[in-house]
Amino acid sequence: MQNSNSLWSNVTKKRVPHAPLKEELETDIAIIGGGFTGLSTALHLLNEGQKVSIIEAAEIGFGASGRNSGQVIPTMSGTEPDAIIKKHGKAGLRFAKLIANSAQYLFDIVKDENIACEAKQNGWFQPAHTPGRLNLSKKRVEAWSKLGGNVSLLNAKESADLIGSDQWYGGLLCHSGGHINPLALVHGLAANVKKQGGQLFENTPALTLNKVKSKWHIKTAEGLIIANKVMLATNAYTDQFERNLSPKQSRSIIPVVTYQMATEPLNKALRETILPEDHAVSDTRGDLRFFRWDARNRLITGGALINQRDAETRLKDIIGERLNQTFPNLGKPKFDYVWSGRIGMTADRMPRFYNPEPGLWSWTACNGRGVALSISLGNAFAKALTGTPIDELPIPITPIRPYPLHSVGTEVAPKLLAYYRWRDNREVA
Ligand SMILES: Cc1cc2nc3c(=O)[nH]c(=O)nc-3n(C[C@H](O)[C@H](O)[C@H](O)COP(=O)(O)OP(=O)(O)OC[C@H]3O[C@@H](n4cnc5c(N)ncnc54)[C@H](O)[C@@H]3O)c2cc1C
Repeated sequence: MQNSNSLWSNVTKKRVPHAPLKEELETDIAIIGGGFTGLSTALHLLNEGQKVSIIEAAEIGFGASGRNSGQVIPTMSGTEPDAIIKKHGKAGLRFAKLIANSAQYLFDIVKDENIACEAKQNGWFQPAHTPGRLNLSKKRVEAWSKLGGNVSLLNAKESADLIGSDQWYGGLLCHSGGHINPLALVHGLAANVKKQGGQLFENTPALTLNKVKSKWHIKTAEGLIIANKVMLATNAYTDQFERNLSPKQSRSIIPVVTYQMATEPLNKALRETILPEDHAVSDTRGDLRFFRWDARNRLITGGALINQRDAETRLKDIIGERLNQTFPNLGKPKFDYVWSGRIGMTADRMPRFYNPEPGLWSWTACNGRGVALSISLGNAFAKALTGTPIDELPIPITPIRPYPLHSVGTEVAPKLLAYYRWRDNREVA
């Protein structure tokens, strides 16, 4: 549960946490959860002149926002824009356009808010691991271009030059993508929320969330927030601190643990041969190969395991060997950091947006692609919370549908990696 062993916790400038809530207060909008979604929504609301109060159960960035790989990606994983539009119609089209523009949106916020987070907008590349997947890349280039995405198709030679390895067949390059230090970004957002008059309380888990007459009441251990509206920005960590906060929402995703790893700082000569132009890369496999540099010459990668036993030692071996095969010059590197986090998954690989009662908004299920998305959603949720009609929002709202036999699904989910590996080795049309 801790993220103190992450690379980001160890290299990011320390900050003094905000004090917990110890009073009763009234606010226009209460936000539960201090990650990208909650803080981005807060910033947009503050610009609209709203009074905003945020409570975070642990420290700012404790959830996925402070422990992800920092790859800024303007696409979804495992679902295509056409499928989103087919399923959700006009709202789906608005959402797909939001995704296509999401990486640019993030880098613009970083610039406008003057946040030092090691941001590099050098592009995100998705190399195809089979010729059939390259056909998929071509279709993706067409689809995302139509939605306004700044994308192009690379051939095998261009892919090899970009990555420093000839193991892929070409792929989809998103020019607006890149990478960041996610913990520095989430800290920067929080500092700006505070500067602009937002109230922030850390180490303050919401224990209950109830409508009392026309107001929302959020109880914490030593305080109470009374709000006109609420953004539940707890995403895949919704049941982490209080199981009954929103149990239906918690059971509408299957939470999956994924591991991140950072090598020791590598030498300049290696850095010039691997990802020489500093792109972020995640390939077309279900058992994803992904890597990027950080600002201190560490290569950041990771993976998932079917069996979590002795995870750190086994990952160092398995992922080290993968890197060795991909970049023989590198050999099997030494890893200084291994950490993990929770990703919310759904069977159709689509995010879920909820408005279960008037004045209450939430989302979950990034399916592994939520850095650029959650920051961009801040604008959409701020509009939702200040009265923009649902049929104008870029968020396709659905009823909350918990998975039946959720605990069995959660238990079985890591085993699906075996299926993904099998599918990765099969060609697609
Ligand atoms: C290991 C990992 C790697 C990833 N890598 C990438 C990547 O490279 N690129 C990409 O696009 N996406 C990636 N993602 C996904 C991305 O990080 C998330 O989609 C995004 O950060 C979600 O932000 P959020 O603010 O919605 O949720 P979170 O950051 O999870 O924030 C939710 C917050 O709610 C708080 N909370 C929970 N319960 C309560 C309560 N009762 N009271 C108060 N607060 C509460 C939690 O402590 C948490 O801080 C990754 C995710 C993980 C876990």
